[in-house]
Amino acid sequence: MTERPDGSEADRVFNFSAGPAVLPLSVLEQARDEMLSLPGVGMSVLEISHRSLAFDQILEDTLADLRQLLGIGTDHELVFLQGGASLQFSMVPMNLLRGQSSPADYILSGTWGATAVKEARREGAVHVAWTGENSRYDQLPAPGDIQRSPDAAYVHITSNETIQGVQWQREPDVGAAPLICDCSSDFLSRPIDVAKYGLIYACAQKNAGIAGVTVVIIRKDLLERSRDDLPAMLDYRTFVKNGSRPNTPPVFAIYMLGLVCRWVRDTMGGLTAMADHNTAKAAILYDVIDSSGGFYGGHAHPACRSKMNVTFRLPSEELEKAFVQGAARHGLADLKGHRSVGGIRASIYNAMPTAGVEALRDYMLDFQRSQA
Ligand SMILES: *Cc1c(COP(=O)(O)O)cnc(C)c1O
Repeated sequence: MTERPDGSEADRVFNFSAGPAVLPLSVLEQARDEMLSLPGVGMSVLEISHRSLAFDQILEDTLADLRQLLGIGTDHELVFLQGGASLQFSMVPMNLLRGQSSPADYILSGTWGATAVKEARREGAVHVAWTGENSRYDQLPAPGDIQRSPDAAYVHITSNETIQGVQWQREPDVGAAPLICDCSSDFLSRPIDVAKYGLIYACAQKNAGIAGVTVVIIRKDLLERSRDDLPAMLDYRTFVKNGSRPNTPPVFAIYMLGLVCRWVRDTMGGLTAMADHNTAKAAILYDVIDSSGGFYGGHAHPACRSKMNVTFRLPSEELEKAFVQGAARHGLADLKGHRSVGGIRASIYNAMPTAGVEALRDYMLDFQRSQA
């Protein structure tokens, strides 16, 4: 890739980073065009007051667009927080487990779920209803394998395990217990039946925008569980009561989230079309893996393969290193797998164009041929 002093599209590589991750080019362009002056405002979005009329509009539009896109009904509140998905590992049990008489069930399908459960243990009784740890998190439970507690305070899942590349294709049956989901790495990648969930959380920097804002969707009746001794900034009710603005919110991150929502709706045609697009992109890479005669070995079992993070191994670590280095020379960036899994991880979020996936496919085919 040749360096262009003007930072134009021509010097952009295909970015397979797991997060922060690729953004739609048109979103970046709009943010650039409005950087010095928001239309009709005369100030940058980086400079405006979070209590200004201009930001009122950005916040209201983003909340409304997200509600419409996801089909969030009146039973659920939608709020924007900071602290990333990691803070939700703590806030969920602080608000929903502290003081409860029954344990919270956690289904562990990868590293993020395992990290979440550690924080929950600080707040109350926790029951691991299923874990994929013994097979290095390469699969999901069969329905009969989940050992649910009677009257669980809630059941926690991770819809897409970003590191292992394992994704629920539909939510598990959790009976009457509220289903809580860390949706960080597949948020806005497909439709989601919000009515089935007690709480959904997602940091934005994987698929929905940039770091700094975390989306929380919470069923209204669950807000009554929070205890009054919680610090205000760790209590969901504070954000609901103050319309996501108890203090200064991450103004720029919310603005970017709004641009991404509109891109999904207007350019990509909404979440159903987005999901079809993602399915088609993922199939291109899984086809290469499956027809490689074992040269490329997929990490996740086929039934739970992620459409966001495609994880695979090569016959040796040396070959993996050569693969990643060669890919970078072809403008295919950040393909190295997470250190805990090794191998290759191609993150192909919403904004990764089909052309990027096809370029990776061609590189994979060439690389295998070069080893024959
Ligand atoms: C990235 C990620 C996290 C951690 O997000 P932070 O915003 O860095 O705290 C948690 N869960 C999943 C599934 C993720 O992909």
